[in-house]
Amino acid sequence: MSISAESDQSCRRCGTSHPPSAYVNTRGGRRVQLAVCPACLDDPTIPRHTHILCAECGDLCPIDGPITYRNLFCAPCAQQRDRAFRRTYRQQPAEKRKRLVYHVATRYGLSAARYDALMDQQGGRCAVCGGPPTGQGRLHVDHDHATSLVRGLLCHDCNTGIGSLKDDLSILRAAVAYLERQSGR
Ligand SMILES: [Zn+2]
Ligand SMILES: [Zn+2]
Ligand SMILES: [Zn+2]
Repeated sequence: MSISAESDQSCRRCGTSHPPSAYVNTRGGRRVQLAVCPACLDDPTIPRHTHILCAECGDLCPIDGPITYRNLFCAPCAQQRDRAFRRTYRQQPAEKRKRLVYHVATRYGLSAARYDALMDQQGGRCAVCGGPPTGQGRLHVDHDHATSLVRGLLCHDCNTGIGSLKDDLSILRAAVAYLERQSGR
């Protein structure tokens, strides 16, 4: 057997080294680089009715319940793939849009058309500072807490700033007066 130490892969179970080609296998139509060597793969002490060859981590993994053709991945790998799938799925523009439309409708009673019109009116920028969205990457719907009417779209900073000053004009004016006094204007 020809041995090239750096490229050899050691078996996760027995630790012996073999060329990477010895670990190639096929699971569910996909090419899997196994983590276990051929000898360990055929280990008769590993019960086949409780273990599967995971198509993700390439190890013989114990599995709960009856094994069906669906058990392509072990539980941790399945969970990880699921999470990764959901993450990328949620990042798709159409999905982001769907969540936004749902959010503004349920939270502020704002239709998608009205939200888009506001966005257009403000050129996609904050109605107070004129800056681009901050924080979560989109503008917040600012509404009058007393009447629950939508006033406009604000960046995260302006939205929380106004909120911290309790949406109160007299406090906001007092804050302006204070800053002007302090800067000697
Ligand atoms: Zn092995
Ligand atoms: Zn796995
Ligand atoms: Zn702003």
